[in-house]
Amino acid sequence: MEKSDLKQKYVNERIVESNGCNAYDGKVVWSPVKSLWITSMYFIAIVGGILTFSISAFLIFLASTAVTLCLGHSLGMHRRLIHQSYQCPKWLEYCLVHFGVIVGLAGPKGMMHTHDMRDWAQRQNKCHDYFGHQQPFFIDAIWQLHCDLELKSPPKFIPEESFTNDRVYQWMEKTWMWQQLPWALLFFYWGGIAWVVWGICVRVAVSVTGHWLIGYFAHNEGDRDWHVEGASVQGYNIRFAALITMGESWHNNHHAFPGSALLGIEKNQVDPGWWVLRVLEKLGFVWNLKLPEDLPGRIELKNINFLETKSHSNEKSAIAKIPGLPDEI
Ligand SMILES: [Zn+2]
Ligand SMILES: [Zn+2]
Repeated sequence: MEKSDLKQKYVNERIVESNGCNAYDGKVVWSPVKSLWITSMYFIAIVGGILTFSISAFLIFLASTAVTLCLGHSLGMHRRLIHQSYQCPKWLEYCLVHFGVIVGLAGPKGMMHTHDMRDWAQRQNKCHDYFGHQQPFFIDAIWQLHCDLELKSPPKFIPEESFTNDRVYQWMEKTWMWQQLPWALLFFYWGGIAWVVWGICVRVAVSVTGHWLIGYFAHNEGDRDWHVEGASVQGYNIRFAALITMGESWHNNHHAFPGSALLGIEKNQVDPGWWVLRVLEKLGFVWNLKLPEDLPGRIELKNINFLETKSHSNEKSAIAKIPGLPDEI
């Protein structure tokens, strides 16, 4: 059988579509929990941050942000829990996901739901501006940081039973905000109130804002090598943000190969999350790291093989203009 015969359309099995469900008909509503949480973090970060600034507090902010974004958000929550792009022992998965929870965005189920719904919506031929970050910058900021989208006819979100029945994840979901507390106590013990303000509140405020910023730019402008046909929203690679996002800003690659543990797939694309995974692999803590070539071929995936900036309107004609390209993988 030809390799092309094996290609299939990518589907996320946790999202179950039913007749009439769609990704565009809905309204943006204020989310009190999300809004009050981030507003109080901003308030303490700005007022408390100025009042308590010290070099050691700033260093604890940098170190805790790097650890939670890399080990937690990127490796635990995203590459392992959501995409299962590598294998590891359960105890390590719990630790990594806990670090992901204390980034301050949501619990494990909440993150999986937000990620999967957005990812599904962006692959539809039409989706609400909320999912695609398609409104102007400041409107998108208010929407993403303070509001939720209520779809009129959403698909069903059905996570794997092994996840739904997992007591540890059920507990993490219920207590996601409170999981900052043991770290706050530890920071207080080590460095006083300044370490709590910088290690918890400034970190959460910066991480949540950074997460939105990258989401905004990674769906609006940057370089692309890949085009997902039929998708209303494409991902873009944000080169300058690769280091601080632990490789997550290679978002065009991620739209093309969602199940890959490696996000910086080209030689010159730095991917700190991948470096950490390779070290963990050498130490025997993780295995079966999936690469793009290990994933099933996608019938809707085209290689553009040239760089472009934001140009939603001429994406298709741009592809058609390049003769003789190996346009599929
Ligand atoms: Zn995306
Ligand atoms: Zn993803």
